[in-house]
Amino acid sequence: MSEYEVICGLEIHVQQNTKTKMFCRCNNDSENARPNTNVCPVCMGFPGQLPKANKKAIEKSIAAGLMFGSQIPERSMFDRKNYFYPDSPKGYQITQNFHPIAIGGNVEVEIKEGKKNIRIHHMHLEEDAGKLTHTAQGSLIDYNRTGTPLMELVTEPDINSVEEAVAFAKEVQRIMRYSGASNADMEKGMMRFDVNVSLRPFGQKEFGNKVEIKNLNSFSSMEKAFHYEIRRQTKALKAGETIHQETRGWDDVKQKTTSQRSKETAFDYRYHPEPDLPPVVHKQVLVDEIKATLPELPIVKRQRYVDYGIGYDESVLLSNTLEMAQFFEDASSIADDPKKSAAFITTNLLKHLNENHIDIKDSIVTAKHIGELVNLINNETISNNTAKNEVMSFMLETGDMPSKIVEEKGLKQVVDTNLIDTLCKKAIESNQKAVDQYKGGHKKAIGALVGFCMKEGKGQVNPKHISEHLEKLLSE
Ligand SMILES: [Zn+2]
Repeated sequence: MSEYEVICGLEIHVQQNTKTKMFCRCNNDSENARPNTNVCPVCMGFPGQLPKANKKAIEKSIAAGLMFGSQIPERSMFDRKNYFYPDSPKGYQITQNFHPIAIGGNVEVEIKEGKKNIRIHHMHLEEDAGKLTHTAQGSLIDYNRTGTPLMELVTEPDINSVEEAVAFAKEVQRIMRYSGASNADMEKGMMRFDVNVSLRPFGQKEFGNKVEIKNLNSFSSMEKAFHYEIRRQTKALKAGETIHQETRGWDDVKQKTTSQRSKETAFDYRYHPEPDLPPVVHKQVLVDEIKATLPELPIVKRQRYVDYGIGYDESVLLSNTLEMAQFFEDASSIADDPKKSAAFITTNLLKHLNENHIDIKDSIVTAKHIGELVNLINNETISNNTAKNEVMSFMLETGDMPSKIVEEKGLKQVVDTNLIDTLCKKAIESNQKAVDQYKGGHKKAIGALVGFCMKEGKGQVNPKHISEHLEKLLSE
C-alpha cells in the first residue's frame, strides 16, 4: 500500500452527433469527406461573419446534463477564449467559461469494492478545433472538425484510483450514448480525456501540486498514462523532490508522460463574453419536454438485468447501448424469459456480430427471432442443443424465422418414448458407479446419466424427459 493518496479529476471532451456544426450550417459528419471540404466562412473565422448557435446542440447538451443529474440554469452564455494555434483559424475558441449549460450532478460507478459516487462540477458547450497531422514532410491541417459541437464535462476531484477513473469514463460513454447527444466512439476521436493527478500523504488536508495529462483518446492510454504518472510522482515525492504544476502529454511509443508546458508559461486566455452571440435562454417547458423523453440510466438497467438472474458481465454487455438494451428487452418480453434470451444474445449472436463487424441494428437475426427461438425451447418443440447449434447457425446465415427452419430441416425434438426408454436403460447399464451413487442418496449423480443419454441421442431428446424417465426407472 502506498503512503500517498491519489487525487484525480477528469475533463472529458465529447463531440456531439448533430447534423450541422455548432455555429454554422456545415455538415457535422466528415467521416468520408475529403479534408477541408466541410468548411465555410463562419467556421473558418473569416472577418465579418456572424455565428449562430445550433438549437439541436443546445437541446442535446440539456439532455446529457439531465442524464448526469445536473441543474440546467435558466440561461447560459458563450465566451471567447483567446489563443493562437494553427488548428483554430479564428484565433479564439467560442466556449462557456462563466455561465455553463449544466451545473453539478453525479455519476455512480461500480468498482470492486462496490458503488462510488463521482460528482460533476459542470458541463459546458463549445466548438472543436481542427485536426493537425504531423508528418515527416511537415504538418497538415484539416479544418473539417473545426466548429463541431463539443461538450466538456468536468468532475470534482473525487477519483482516487485508476480503476475508478476507467469505470467513470466508461459510464460517461454509456450515458452520453443513452442521452442521444453523442455516439462517443473513441476510435473516431469523439471522446477525449484530460486527467488531473496529484498525490498527498494520507491524512494531509492540502492538495499536492497537480499535473494535467492532456488529450488521451482511448481508455487504455488513459489507464497507462494515469498509472505512469502515479509511479513518477510517488518516486519524486519519496526522493524529497517537489512536483511542478504542469501540463504533460502521453507518449504512446515511449509509454511515458512528457512535460509540455509549466504553470509559468501557461496562456492567459483573456476570457470575455462572446459579443456576436446572445445569451441562451433555457425555457423550463423545453427542459421538462426533454426530460420526459430520456431513458433510464444504464446502471439502473444493469441492476434490473442482474435481478433477472443474468450475470454482471452479461448485464454490462446488454446495456452498453440503448439499441442493445432494446433488442434484449424486446426478445425477452416475447419469450417472457430474460435469462435464456440473454444467453443466446451474449454467447451466440454477439459473438457472430463482433466477428463479422456487424452492428446490432443491422443484424438479420432480430429480437423476434431470439424470442421465438426461446419459445420453441420452452414449449419443448426443440432442445436447447438444437437451438444453439443448427437453428442458430441457419438463422445467422439466412435470417429465416426459427419455426420455419425447424419445420424445413426436420429439427423437432423426438418425444419418442421407446427411444427415451432405450437410452435410459443403456445409460443405467453403462454407468454403474453413477447409479450406485444415486441410490446411495447422491441425487446429483443423475447428471452423468442424463449427459450419457443426450450424447447418445445426439441432443434431439429433451433432458427433462430423460431425467424424469431415469428417476422412474431408478426408483423401481
Ligand atoms: Zn462552417
